[in-house]
Amino acid sequence: MKIAMVSEHASPLAALGGVDAGGQNVHVAALSIALAERGHRVTVYTRRDNPDLAHRVHVRQGLDVVHLDAGPADHLPKDGLLPFMGALADGIVEDWGNYPPGVVHAHFWMSGVAALDAARRYSGGGYPVPVVQTFHALGTVKRRHQGVQDTSPVERQWLEASVGRAVDRVIATCSDELFELKAMGVSGSKVSIAPCGVDLDLFRAEGPADERTRRHRIVSVGRLVPRKGVDLVIRSLPLLRAAGFDDVELIVVGGAGASDALDSDLEARRLLALAAELGVADRVSLRGQVPRENMPALLRSADAIVCAPWYEPFGIVPLEAMACGVPVVAAAVGGLIDTVVDRSTGLHVPPMDPDAIAAAVGELLRDPQLRIRLGRAGQLRVRSRYSWDRIAAETEKFYQTTLNSMLARGDSPSAGLAGEYLTPDYLPQRYLPQGYLQRMEGTAL
Ligand code: UDP
Repeated sequence: MKIAMVSEHASPLAALGGVDAGGQNVHVAALSIALAERGHRVTVYTRRDNPDLAHRVHVRQGLDVVHLDAGPADHLPKDGLLPFMGALADGIVEDWGNYPPGVVHAHFWMSGVAALDAARRYSGGGYPVPVVQTFHALGTVKRRHQGVQDTSPVERQWLEASVGRAVDRVIATCSDELFELKAMGVSGSKVSIAPCGVDLDLFRAEGPADERTRRHRIVSVGRLVPRKGVDLVIRSLPLLRAAGFDDVELIVVGGAGASDALDSDLEARRLLALAAELGVADRVSLRGQVPRENMPALLRSADAIVCAPWYEPFGIVPLEAMACGVPVVAAAVGGLIDTVVDRSTGLHVPPMDPDAIAAAVGELLRDPQLRIRLGRAGQLRVRSRYSWDRIAAETEKFYQTTLNSMLARGDSPSAGLAGEYLTPDYLPQRYLPQGYLQRMEGTAL
């Protein structure tokens, strides 16, 4: 099948760890590769954020990334990108030409806006292009937790729900998201759940581990933004010391650039100031962005990975830790409720609770057998449930279900944001436009 992925701000080719480059980039890259390996032809459309980027990058057989001109060819915060979604849709439509894809899969709400816009133009011309949406994060949740700190454009409050209602299928990444979607007015009958996966070739328990500088090591990985709760992990260090664990280092991965570029990173400075204030500056090391290939050795060097976000739409890092056989201490929020099984592959703690983090880490440091048991169970869990090939197979099934129900209904799938229903007046198949069935060849999976 010809598949179009739209990922407006999160290019699969970007470096990870910056404010807007994290799990979505990994997800789009890995899912696209896995779908290409299953024989599909995948094109990822993303915004050009650097003038030197080639228009089309051929990544591997079956996978291209197309950089589209939509706003200045410079890095812009994702919250400023909405005005450029029309231009993104123009670029997508131009690239499709007379051969639109069998399905367009949008990532993040703004990509959904562009994908619906592009698909609607083909629906009007009699070419139904189903739109599948993965939100990755929801504005309602962000606003609930961040309040006035939320820098999302005001339109998100209504446009995101419109996208959810207008698309043909929503793929939620965890069960918690399903409840949020229903509250937004998205029909549960068109929501499917497919989690994120993990690269099991890269993230493995076997292999070298980085050297430690202290007896115990805990690691926190993620974009350096307050909601990831790294400050809560720092706050747990004096509590651990009071509990008798004096020789614990915390390695923090993520940030605007390599460790020497962190001076200009406001969150990095805030975290270092907090560590100094709490008297644990000599225990905290900020590593900045760490390339993916170096991540497994770093994870393997830890006694535990601590993920303490206020909220988490999915959270790939716990899967990477489990794949490396390392137990996870995770706040029981969002996707972490599904991925980390309490007392089986890690320990759940209530959100925003440094005392609970310290207690959970202390329990793990005290008990090497428990660490081994949880680590092994985590490995088994990710291997059986979270391979990208399995996620791609499930996603493929959802594409097929969406196409089937569209054909069974005999209508054009995308109602469009303005609410107009662009359904051509025909029954399935025999009324489909000439050439449509040829284009759909290969969609019967
Ligand atoms: N990551 C990385 N290098 C860094 C920081 C993060 O490779 O310096 C990766 C990390 O290993 C994970 C992803 O970025 O694969 C973060 O995904 P997650 O879902 O945990 O968080 P998000 O960024 O989506 O909030």
